[in-house]
Amino acid sequence: MRAIVLFGSPGSGKGTQAKFLTECLRVPHVSTGDMLRDRIRSGSELGTAVVATMHSGGLVSDQVVNLMVEERLSKPDAAKGFVLDGYPRTLAQAEHLCRWLDGRGVREVVIHLAVDYNVIIGRLTGRRECPRCGTLYNVAFHPPKMDELCDLDGEKLAIRDDDREPVIRERLDAYGHQTRPVLEYYRTVGRRVVEVEASDDPPPIVFQKICQAMEKDDRSKDSR
Ligand code: AMP
Repeated sequence: MRAIVLFGSPGSGKGTQAKFLTECLRVPHVSTGDMLRDRIRSGSELGTAVVATMHSGGLVSDQVVNLMVEERLSKPDAAKGFVLDGYPRTLAQAEHLCRWLDGRGVREVVIHLAVDYNVIIGRLTGRRECPRCGTLYNVAFHPPKMDELCDLDGEKLAIRDDDREPVIRERLDAYGHQTRPVLEYYRTVGRRVVEVEASDDPPPIVFQKICQAMEKDDRSKDSR
């Protein structure tokens, strides 16, 4: 079973790399951000409860997110593995996930996408999303063919509410205070953490680096 945790700041490219990984490994992409946005779009009770927190850039409660992830990972399509994107984001979530995986005899591999702060700011402020199909663009790094229009369906692109500047600051703050310590936790308890430098390379090259780093880590695990 392949249990992969993609770890990194907002704007580090987790979503893009998760798509490459899930296509390559044929396992589901479990993004807590996407799942919460789906709940908001469908007007569910949970969606209504979390919308204000999400739009402010803060973190949704551990209890809500832990339960949502547990339910998702228990579905049959996740039996062979999954790629977690945006979870765990707090120590309580990391401990919860470790217990859940330990209970099933599964060892995760954490992939840390390391990206410089200034690169992150450029990516987040330039991000645009198609409101119809969800495709992501960046005005500087990955612009649409026609100015501000989606390549796939021609819809006018939008700035996601949580990509506006005060919200970006809040999200990076939440990352620094609540999420970054999770990486230290994984290292301290001796779980597998793979480092990938992802500031400068285009996404396909970052993906190659991830594959190489995972293979190297697999070999060193086998020889331990
Ligand atoms: P993302 O798309 O991963 O950047 O997530 C967007 C927003 O969803 C975050 O700013 C949080 O408000 C919320 N969110 C996503 N994942 C989590 C999580 N694991 N724990 C708490 N809140 C989350």
